[in-house]
This record gives sequence, structure tokens and C-alpha cells, in this order.
Amino acid sequence: MGERLIGFLGNIPLQTETEGNDMVCSYLIILAVILIALYLGLFIYNKVVIGKKQKQHPCKYCGHMVNAISQCCNVPVEEKFMSGKCSKCGKETKTICASCKRDLY
Ligand SMILES: [Zn+2]
Ligand SMILES: [Zn+2]
Repeated sequence: MGERLIGFLGNIPLQTETEGNDMVCSYLIILAVILIALYLGLFIYNKVVIGKKQKQHPCKYCGHMVNAISQCCNVPVEEKFMSGKCSKCGKETKTICASCKRDLY
């Protein structure tokens, strides 16, 4: 009785196990594809969103990190080395503090 039961239990799970392995394999592939897609999505998200995110600057008047805006149009500045370009009118501009409107540099 005991041996038969073990044999019975030994046979059935073996069959389902091989089928289960196939299932696990395809699940793993799907999972890997999803993970890669997520990773790529995050990578692109970082490039696009974080890349466009405004850099913060320390304001000596406010005493904390503030957003920099252009002096001419009060819009975010496209920053370059040592200078900024107004994102609205496209002219070179001074960057000013978004809160107190004073020069940042
Ligand atoms: Zn300020
Ligand atoms: Zn401007």
C-alpha cells in the first residue's frame, strides 16, 4: 500500500513537473521581456523627463535651492556653461531666482 502510494505520487508529479518546467520557462521569458521593457522604459524616461527637469541653484538671498528663470521673460532657462538661454525668446539671459527674482550669479 505504502509503496504503491509512493509510486503513484512519484509518477504523477514527474509528468506535471516537465509540463510545469515548460510553463516556467515561458513565464521566465515573458518576465525577462517585461523586465527589459521596463528597464528600457525607465532609461528613456530618465533621459527625457529627468533630463528636462530644471536644475536647482542655491540662492544666496533665499538661502536654499531654487529654480532658475530668465530675467527677460521669467521662464525656465536652457542652461549652458556660464550663461543661459531664455526658453521663450531664445536670447542670452541672466538667470534669476524664481522666488526672489534676484541674480543667481
Ligand atoms: Zn532667491
Ligand atoms: Zn526671454
